[in-house]
Amino acid sequence: MKRYQALNDGIVCIDTEQHRPQMAACYLIGGDGHYAFVEAGTSLSVPGLLQTLEALGVERGMVDYVMPTHVHLDHAGGAGALLRELPNARLVIHPRGARHMSDPSQLIAGATAVYGPGAMRATYGEILPVPEARVVVAGVAPDRDFELMLGARRLQFIDAPGHARHHYAIWDEASGGWFTGDVFGLVYREFDTPDGNYLIPTTSPVQFDPEAWNATLDRLLERSPAHVYLTHYGRVDAVAALAKDLREGLVVYQRIARTNADTPDRHARIRSDLLHHHLDQLRERRHPLPAARARALLELDVEINAQGLEVWLDRQRG
Ligand SMILES: [Zn+2]
Repeated sequence: MKRYQALNDGIVCIDTEQHRPQMAACYLIGGDGHYAFVEAGTSLSVPGLLQTLEALGVERGMVDYVMPTHVHLDHAGGAGALLRELPNARLVIHPRGARHMSDPSQLIAGATAVYGPGAMRATYGEILPVPEARVVVAGVAPDRDFELMLGARRLQFIDAPGHARHHYAIWDEASGGWFTGDVFGLVYREFDTPDGNYLIPTTSPVQFDPEAWNATLDRLLERSPAHVYLTHYGRVDAVAALAKDLREGLVVYQRIARTNADTPDRHARIRSDLLHHHLDQLRERRHPLPAARARALLELDVEINAQGLEVWLDRQRG
């Protein structure tokens, strides 16, 4: 399988092959000597990104920006290593994420707590800091957007909390689409059917906030986007229907968390209920994938989503 796929309007979807094919994407966007990466992947994905530039005939010096949507390591962990290879590029990052890119020690500690030290190293490699001089803070706030020109291409950034408070979304005027990181959920292509995509919420620790999330979805839909470019994974076009699925999914997730809040084996129960919720939905959709394969595809996200819901439960109790 080819590592990258040209989509529409000068947008290339690159498979970073984290964990498995078609799980995590970076996008290369632009043209006429001005390019940007949306998402940086991990340090381990850097060689693949550089090979893609070469295959497309884009010189490393033509990359103006690296734009991770938020500082979770599957999106921003590779930023330091990638910038080292791109002489003219600057990092564009949410104000709440900037200091973590210059000093990634807290990110490393946080991810180690979620994934464990062994998996952490194997999945993310070495996390390099980004020199402060190369950081552009995208000045977004609840009441303020931020704009950047990539050559002649206008990119507009909005504050996009819900999945994480250090999350922005990028409106790409040229294609009429949003780059949404994790704030439009996950759509694994293995779950696609002729009837459409299957959407999974992503409630990772530690800043899941359902109210903020719904407000972010309102803002995304305001522009009537033709496309949404997901990090996990690829472009989706049935935007309104998927937004509805995501809102409903968030309701189910909260209910599962609350139902199990006071049980002694809370984590195992939440994880199991999330898994069965998804398996039931896939069965209702008559999805042809064998249940064992579906379980394997869902396993990691269900574990992380359960952890995030527990943090949310605890936070609500103060
Ligand atoms: Zn994330």
